[in-house]
Amino acid sequence: MSKTLFEKIIDREIPAGFVHEDELCVAIKDVNPQAPMHVLVIPRKPMPRLCDAVPEDQALLGHLLMVANKVAADAGYGEAYRVVINNGAGSGQTVFHLHLHVVGGRPLKWPPG
Ligand code: 5GP
Repeated sequence: MSKTLFEKIIDREIPAGFVHEDELCVAIKDVNPQAPMHVLVIPRKPMPRLCDAVPEDQALLGHLLMVANKVAADAGYGEAYRVVINNGAGSGQTVFHLHLHVVGGRPLKWPPG
């Protein structure tokens, strides 16, 4: 199996701006930011989509949200930010290695497009 783009970033084969790293996940700055803060929280485990999660992933998924909290707080946007997971091509997912977008630093409209 070839590596996903995010596995290559995790393995430092492709450069990225790391803002967090632990045994379960990393967080990097998005290469095409949609807001002053746009960070991707990425599990080391390369699950393609959120819908591919299995019950054993429950703690990992919770951990990713806690890291999203920390990343937003560290960036100074802990009181107003958005976490997005695109699940499947029809939702806009382009990289098939689960990731959370953590976006903030500007007014965020609802509903999203
Ligand atoms: P998706 O569309 O799958 O939800 O989000 C993929 C995200 O990965 C996009 O926001 C895109 O800008 C970001 N991205 C794609 N390639 C790279 C890359 O090489 N480095 C970084 N840091 N982000 C990337």
